[in-house]
Amino acid sequence: MRWKKQLHSLAPYQPGRSIESVKKEYGLKTIVKLASNENPFGCSQNVEAAIKKASIDFNYYPDGHAGELRSTLSQMLEVAPDQLIFGNGSDEIIRIISRALLYPGANTVMASPTFPQYRHNAVLEGADVREIPLVNGGHDLDAMLKAIDGQTNVVWICSPNNPTGVHIPDGFLTAFLQKVPEDVLVVIDEAYCEYVTAADFHDSLALVNQFSNVIALRTFSKIYGLASLRVGYGIANPAIIRMLEPAREPFNTNTIAHIAAKAALADLEFVERAKRLNRKGMEMFYEFCRKWNLPFYPSQGNFILINFKQEANKVFQSMLERGFIVRSGALLGFPDSIRVTVGTEEQVAAIINEFEAFLVNECKAIV
Ligand SMILES: *Cc1c(COP(=O)(O)O)cnc(C)c1O
Repeated sequence: MRWKKQLHSLAPYQPGRSIESVKKEYGLKTIVKLASNENPFGCSQNVEAAIKKASIDFNYYPDGHAGELRSTLSQMLEVAPDQLIFGNGSDEIIRIISRALLYPGANTVMASPTFPQYRHNAVLEGADVREIPLVNGGHDLDAMLKAIDGQTNVVWICSPNNPTGVHIPDGFLTAFLQKVPEDVLVVIDEAYCEYVTAADFHDSLALVNQFSNVIALRTFSKIYGLASLRVGYGIANPAIIRMLEPAREPFNTNTIAHIAAKAALADLEFVERAKRLNRKGMEMFYEFCRKWNLPFYPSQGNFILINFKQEANKVFQSMLERGFIVRSGALLGFPDSIRVTVGTEEQVAAIINEFEAFLVNECKAIV
């Protein structure tokens, strides 16, 4: 068959290990999954109630326009309804943007390491990928600017960055946007924005108003705890949304997801609580890292990248056997680090215990 030649260089996405498969393999009763930055507190109770109450005609296609969710969200954000695009997760919006703007001969600029889907989709479309190494876990915006040329169609910004958790201070981001040519789309992926506590975090709604070439991406998968339902959205000026829409599948988000997302938006207390408890768990990890002298990046997300100063896969494997699924940095561009999602207070305390047991064992082995 005459496959697109790019497919030969791409591997299928490797998901984190599932709870069931780890239970079975190691004969464990309980498993804690802290691998994919999901919300350890579940989702708002409003969600289940709203889904139970709804009478859904399963035989009919969903509202492809996501009308109710669109109108709720546009009121909350104070943007026009035609400034929003919905995706089957923000992953799909990354795909839509790539499909609409990337092709052989065009190039795209991104940090490295960052969220892998930018690169994956760009390669699939045959565009050249310009990856600019992170500096101290953050975007090197000057080097990214220099990499932009007449063939650059999309620049990807991930703030807070996955997998480091480092955010770009507002002043730097705005200065960068002022220098990017107006005909280059800048994607600001802020999947973790609801977790951010830093005072100098950007205001994407203001940026979208100020810059006609900016789209902000958000998701219901992280703080809202709806990863299984697949809903994300983009905010941009109507002209950008208008051009992206034909690249979107007509019924890409489903009825249950619309109902759940709308219900989740109405429960600000749940979001506030998740944010507050996330900071507590994060502080516990910071303390652990300082105690053991393990380098880490202060994180604005709900995850932390910890440098164990040894092969990450070894730490990963040992944690798996102890009943904790984490993410090995080997697949994320940090071969000595582990990315851990901040769980509940009990989960964080428990995994820190296991990390310490692992490290003590290591010390003994060395002596
Ligand atoms: C989790 C994540 C996403 C994808 O979220 P979905 O809406 O579930 O597709 C996008 N960007 C970053 C940086 C993420 O970490």
